[in-house]
Amino acid sequence: MTEHDIKISFKEYDTVTELNTADQALCAEAVKAMATSHSPYSKFRVGAALQLQSGKIIHASNQENVAYPSGLCAERVALFHWGASHANDPIVSMAVTAHTDDFPLLKPITSCGSCLQVMAECEKRQNMPLRVLLYCIDGPVWVIDDVKSMMPFMFFEERLVQPV
Ligand SMILES: [Zn+2]
Repeated sequence: MTEHDIKISFKEYDTVTELNTADQALCAEAVKAMATSHSPYSKFRVGAALQLQSGKIIHASNQENVAYPSGLCAERVALFHWGASHANDPIVSMAVTAHTDDFPLLKPITSCGSCLQVMAECEKRQNMPLRVLLYCIDGPVWVIDDVKSMMPFMFFEERLVQPV
């Protein structure tokens, strides 16, 4: 028997103003992205902004549906848009934020397991780290240097991608 330990490291900034200018700007883009959220059921708006290597920014938000499982998280709306139209332009960083009028958010929201899986595969596809900024508007920002460290057990089978 062999026991393994996995360590996950991330940086916590008390407020967004502690970030460098580019990261602050990307967090602001995630806030802007919430404006297009379609969340009449949860009233929980989520915005995501992708900073691409070319400088382009992709905005996305959560999109709900009256048939609940038909909705999709902001992260995956953003990443599938990237995959469909900008996959040759690597994602440098991704900022995610949220807001609801129902209760205060005191710490950053974290992505669901399905989004982490998609984030991990996008990182693999582009063959470079995808930084993640989880931004609490009135609280801290968590910065993770790559998705691999957030999803060490991501499902990935090389033989499904490249014939052996
Ligand atoms: Zn999700």
